[in-house]
Amino acid sequence: MFEMKQLPFELSALDPWISSATMEFHYGRHYRGYIDKLNELVKDTPYAEMPLEAVIKESYRKTSDRAIYNNAGQVWNHQFFWNSLSAEGATRPPVKIMKQIEAAYDSYDAFKAAFKAKALGQFGSGWCWAVQKDGRVDIVATSNADNPVSLDLGQPLLCLDVWEHAYYLDYQNRRADFIDAFLEHMIKW
Ligand code: MN
Repeated sequence: MFEMKQLPFELSALDPWISSATMEFHYGRHYRGYIDKLNELVKDTPYAEMPLEAVIKESYRKTSDRAIYNNAGQVWNHQFFWNSLSAEGATRPPVKIMKQIEAAYDSYDAFKAAFKAKALGQFGSGWCWAVQKDGRVDIVATSNADNPVSLDLGQPLLCLDVWEHAYYLDYQNRRADFIDAFLEHMIKW
């Protein structure tokens, strides 16, 4: 049985950048839905006893297990996303990561601009990640339930959910404003 992880803050803690109405649906309905569906799908299969990351890697290789992969990926991605949000305002990268960011992007502002462009450019539903690979910081976008674990894109540092359900109640179609709010007010390194 996979269980919901507790949110590291109150549902209203990100207001006004993310409203409690959005969090109630996003955490309480969407995330819960992926957990419930995953548990239903893995019941009486070897996946039921596996750690979540192992479920993702194993089901990714089997096209017949696509539904399990999609729900397991969504659970893992959301848990990563909850931990990428700060209720105490945006944080700065730790010194070691900042040095890698400056090496790759010249400045933290340039990194944020690149992150915004990548998140905006993700067509349809997906995720934008900061990852670390071979001592380098990179930015990657993934579709639907994909993530850096299944696609082997490096060690994820943080992510932003850019599915419409993450921002539509607060921003409607203005994904750019949601990304700005994340980078300037909520990002948690
Ligand atoms: Mn979501």
